[in-house]
Amino acid sequence: MNKNSSNIMALAPNTSNKRETVCIFGTGDFGRALGHKMIQSGYPVVYGSRSTQISNLIPKDAEVLSHAEAAQKAAIIIIAIQRQHYNFLIPLAEILHGKVLVDISNNLKLNQYPESNAEYLAQLLPGSRVVKAFNTVSAWALQSGTLDASRQVFVCGDDVEAKQMVMNIVRALGLTPLDKGSLLAAQEIENYPLQLFPMWKLPIFLSLGLTAFFFFYCLALDVIYTYIYEKNNFSFFIAITIPNRVCPVMALILLALVYVPGIFAAIIQLYRGTKYRRFPDWLDKWMLCRKQLGLIALAFASLHVVFTLVSPMRAFVNWRMSKGIISQALNNKTEPLNTTNAWISDSYLSLGILGFFLFVLLGITSLPSVSNNVNWREFRFVQSKLGYLALILCTAHTLVYGGKWFLSPSAYKWYLPNIYMLSLVVPCAVLVVKFVLIFPCVDKPLTQIRQGWERNPKHSE
Ligand code: NAP
Repeated sequence: MNKNSSNIMALAPNTSNKRETVCIFGTGDFGRALGHKMIQSGYPVVYGSRSTQISNLIPKDAEVLSHAEAAQKAAIIIIAIQRQHYNFLIPLAEILHGKVLVDISNNLKLNQYPESNAEYLAQLLPGSRVVKAFNTVSAWALQSGTLDASRQVFVCGDDVEAKQMVMNIVRALGLTPLDKGSLLAAQEIENYPLQLFPMWKLPIFLSLGLTAFFFFYCLALDVIYTYIYEKNNFSFFIAITIPNRVCPVMALILLALVYVPGIFAAIIQLYRGTKYRRFPDWLDKWMLCRKQLGLIALAFASLHVVFTLVSPMRAFVNWRMSKGIISQALNNKTEPLNTTNAWISDSYLSLGILGFFLFVLLGITSLPSVSNNVNWREFRFVQSKLGYLALILCTAHTLVYGGKWFLSPSAYKWYLPNIYMLSLVVPCAVLVVKFVLIFPCVDKPLTQIRQGWERNPKHSE
């Protein structure tokens, strides 16, 4: 059949309700899964394969032909084949001329080739209209229908009409196309499925490092020191006591670290007198992972709550309580209620509960389903104003809890401060600097700079 006539026939607008035939090259896992989904959505599917023998795995309503025959039946051809086999397409260049080729391929490594697979395909077949799509959807998710977390399909391509045709198919399959622009974006789209929690790396490594440090710090002071100098075996502290010290400390420090980059950014902008110069890379990276830092902090705070709630079940706590009661009975003396202590314990519990409540609120508003439903001002109000309030409450919770014995010499085993004191360094520093930044004489120029004013415009080349 004449190639041009076949193309015109396939690209002609469809006047009936019947969907246009789609051709899929390759009867592998992805080709079959996509074929199933397309047939379910009403698309006639024709496979182009090296073998035209029909296997049981191939959707039963699909046709299997040679590549050349199959390509002539459709305007859109999905290339469900690994990049290293693309050379077999070169002899088909004439048949594929003017057709929309959908590159769905992925690589095994980030930036594996100098150019993206889609750009490579476009170089091999300059007469075809290459569109990148579907590579972020897995064959398994397509077949099992478990696409809830990944309904988005990134689409890019240089031919607007071709891209539109592919986006229409994406929509018809019940997925959400996201136009990422020209074929230049293909490299980024191909790297996307290979990334492993890119925004989580720094927060996770930082949390692991700090947790290990504080764990061994507590182990040294609460277990090893007590064993050496007081001959008490408190090794069981490893199970609950030490984690319940490390978790609140981590929660407080990580929450404070969420607000540190904002403070640095404000200081840098004030110093430079402009907002039109890039922040250093480390600050950009830190800013981008604030949400993840906050969520890890929330996880530590939640663990602290659970560890605290199970305290009454602990043998050690029960033993200490009965020891107190027995000693009062033996001495025939009832300890009067210490109102100051009662105030302190109720206050730090109350501050902790309120701080945790706001912490949870911050976590909830960071969920995309919630943040998408609030405007920018509301989001900033919760994340910045309520966030600082959560930091103030949690810092106060720690201060009230440890305040009375922070100054006692017995709190300095081996001349080292208790970890609660260490945990207050960053939050207190953040709150003090923030307090200075909200003074009108500092806040006014900062607001002007953020609105575009420049102290010395020559810096903003
Ligand atoms: P696969 O199961 O290995 O299937 C690839 C198909 O390519 C084979 O079944 C074969 O089909 C064809 N083929 C193999 N060697 C060939 C050659 N030398 N010349 C021509 N055709 C050849 O791979 P797959 O998992 O379906 O993946 C296909 C593409 O989809 C890959 O680029 C992959 O990166 C991409 N992808 C896969 C998934 C997934 O979840 N599997 C997700 C997103 C993207 P015939 O025997 O019919 O010729």
